[in-house]
Amino acid sequence: MPHTDVVSTSVESPLDPSIAPDVWADPRRPSLDQALDAVFRVIGQREPDRLTHPQVVAIARTFFHYTWVCRFFTMQVEDAAERVNGACADDYPLPVGLAIVKDFCNRWNGCPEEACRRDG
Ligand SMILES: [Zn+2]
Repeated sequence: MPHTDVVSTSVESPLDPSIAPDVWADPRRPSLDQALDAVFRVIGQREPDRLTHPQVVAIARTFFHYTWVCRFFTMQVEDAAERVNGACADDYPLPVGLAIVKDFCNRWNGCPEEACRRDG
């Protein structure tokens, strides 16, 4: 392999938390292992190269046992993508996608909309 540029932000392993270290410093779930388990449950692969945005939403959803997600949930995932990745995109390298899931989970406190609270 030729030299790679030192300014690259890519990481060799999703276990490297150098992407969004503040996000992973939050002790609440999911841990990186829990996030990877959720990746496997949702897409059948533990360490794919990339996660699509809909996959990120689906993975985040598993931590809250929702059978569907509302507009507010979707918007919050988009906000997490903007914080971690700089923008919402069609897909992300795995470490970035995982960090988006984690950032969302750190902040999600349930939907504030009355209509979403009824079913608990
Ligand atoms: Zn809602």
